This record gives sequence, C-alpha cells and structure tokens, in this order.
Amino acid sequence: MSEVSAAEAALATEGQPTIFDKLLSGDIPSTEVHSDDLCYAFRDIAPQGPTHVLVIPKDRDGLTRLSKAREDQKALLGHLVYTAGQIGAKECPEGFRVVVNEGVQGAQSVYHLHVHVIGGRQMSWPPG
Ligand code: 5GP
Repeated sequence: MSEVSAAEAALATEGQPTIFDKLLSGDIPSTEVHSDDLCYAFRDIAPQGPTHVLVIPKDRDGLTRLSKAREDQKALLGHLVYTAGQIGAKECPEGFRVVVNEGVQGAQSVYHLHVHVIGGRQMSWPPG
C-alpha cells in the first residue's frame, strides 16, 4: 500500500490530461470492474484495502474535482456515487467506504474526478 503525501498532492496539476485519460483510452492497462455509457470503474493500482475501486466519468468535461462540478453535472455525480454503492454492496457486504479526495488538503493527486470505493477490512475514524 502507498500513501499520497501532501507534497505529491500539492504537485498534482489541474486542467492537464491525467493518467486516467490513458487508462480510458487503453494506452495504460487497468482492471475493469464496471463500464457503462457514463462511467468506468477499475481497481486502484495501490489498493488501500482488499477492495479498492475507482469510479470515474468517461467524459471528464471539466470535472477535475468535486468543487468544480457544474449544475448540469449533478445527475452524473449521482450516477458515480450510485455506481460506487453498487460495487461496494457486491464486493463488501459487511460495509465499505466511499471517498472523494478534493484539492491539496484533501490529498487529491489526479485531477479527473474519481470516487474511491474501499472495503474488505475494518475501517476506523477519523481518517488520516
Ligand atoms: P486521489 O489521491 O487523487 O484521490 O487518488 C488517485 C488514485 O489513483 C490513487 O489511489 C492512486 O493509487 C490511483 N492511481 C494513480 N495512477 C494509477 C494508475 O495508473 N492505475 C490505477 N489503476 N490507479 C492509479
């Protein structure tokens, strides 16, 4: 398991193509969990639990981070969270965590909005 450091988060650049574009195009391989018209879900390369899936919009369309979401993207956000819930329910019947990291202090490192689904182990609170 690896952690995103504050320095890594601070270095991440918004508005540039991200690694997720290469993943979506197939230039970089990924392990698919779910795919539909609006979103793609795949296993995180550095899993923080037995299940760690990322759910991303296929069309980023300016949706770099949660705080930049537009009014017309509310349904898409709902779809991403709904899909995260479906994946969590299937893989982690005992419970799971759904997280969106936002900005530098939120430890966001990839500026293509993504919903983390983490589970398969006991979580604690508060998060780090
Ligand atoms: P963030 O810190 O931005 O919320 O999360 C970005 C996530 O993307 C991290 O959990 C990181 O492990 C994951 N990630 C970064 N690069 C890749 C990659 O090339 N493939 C996959 N599957 N996950 C990646």
